[in-house]
Amino acid sequence: MTSQRVLVTGGAGFLGSHLCDRLLDAGHEVLCVDNFYTGTRPNVEHLLANPRFELMRHDVTMPLVVEVDRIFNLACPASPVHYQKDPVQTTRTSVHGAINMLDLAQRRGARILQASTSEVYGDPIVHPQAEEYWGNVNPVGIRSCYDEGKRCAETLFFDYRRQYQLPIKVARIFNTYGPRMHPNDGRVVSNFVVQALRGEAITIQGDGSQTRSFCFVSDLIDGLLRLMDTTDDVTGPINIGNPTESTIRELAELVLELTGSRSTITYRPLPEDDPRQRCPDITKARQLLGWTPTVSLHDGLRHTIRYFAELLEQPVPPAVR
Ligand code: NAD
Ligand code: UDP
Repeated sequence: MTSQRVLVTGGAGFLGSHLCDRLLDAGHEVLCVDNFYTGTRPNVEHLLANPRFELMRHDVTMPLVVEVDRIFNLACPASPVHYQKDPVQTTRTSVHGAINMLDLAQRRGARILQASTSEVYGDPIVHPQAEEYWGNVNPVGIRSCYDEGKRCAETLFFDYRRQYQLPIKVARIFNTYGPRMHPNDGRVVSNFVVQALRGEAITIQGDGSQTRSFCFVSDLIDGLLRLMDTTDDVTGPINIGNPTESTIRELAELVLELTGSRSTITYRPLPEDDPRQRCPDITKARQLLGWTPTVSLHDGLRHTIRYFAELLEQPVPPAVR
């Protein structure tokens, strides 16, 4: 493949930093743009000496003029705890960020991929969720800043395609976990692993019967790269996630087993609008990308536990808000 100049917004975050690694490994030049809202410099510190890597502090709600061939638009806090801290900024990041990156793509004739989310399905009534399902989203709840922001970003992507023939790709990412999640990220896998390793109580919200389907980060990045490399007629939206569904209680028990921790389990109220069930139908990803996840929850958790075990021996990395 010919080397390209690739922009990764949100590149200092959890998924973005892994994407930067993989793009550099493939021989591309990478421009990583991040405002460090939830991302951290240590996530990309190991790349700073690479002459094909550039790190730029920039907020995607502001226009950006750079020379790039491809854009992966990942900038947006993804953990409910963080996206609900400044909900107006979350919507602004999704919507203004999408417009700014689409305008850049249009100016440059660049191909652009949006990191959308399973949250566009809201609290789904259809199960598992296929791309044709329009979702069940509360437009005025505490999760709406994220869900509706991402839905509007999808709309913008498809309107830029219809109006300006822009080559777009939309990936609907389902819950993904792995090394480089921040210990204070607030999402369930990092919370449970950190709690188990510290011997603190595991905090299950609700009765733990709600489900999620967890994808290991290497599989997810592989799916994004495959989608970006498809021909222009493949736009998505396309689900990328692991279809093995677990209850949150099962996840807690597996984390306890794999860490050998003696942490207890404590129950907390279920947050408002927390989806009851979530599982991707990945038929399209299999057919169009030849992609299927390969890392089991068991193996992915072992990698993640090893990462956090080493991390927690060191001073805690710079705070995520
Ligand atoms: P993350 O919070 O680790 O990364 C998000 C990154 O975006 C951070 O580096 C943050 O500093 C940056 N950012 C936020 N607002 C910005 C702004 N206005 N300007 C510039 N940078 C900004 O989260 P993640 O898990 O790596 O998620 C990356 C993307 O994937 C997000 O768009 C998220 O919505 C999407 N996604 C992730 C998951 C998942 O399970 N990890 C699931 C669905 C969708
Ligand atoms: N959750 C939990 N304990 C935690 C954090 C989350 O039980 O410490 C639950 C949360 O209520 C939800 C599920 O785990 O039902 C996944 O939460 P997360 O924030 O990881 O992702 P999302 O809800 O966006 O899928």
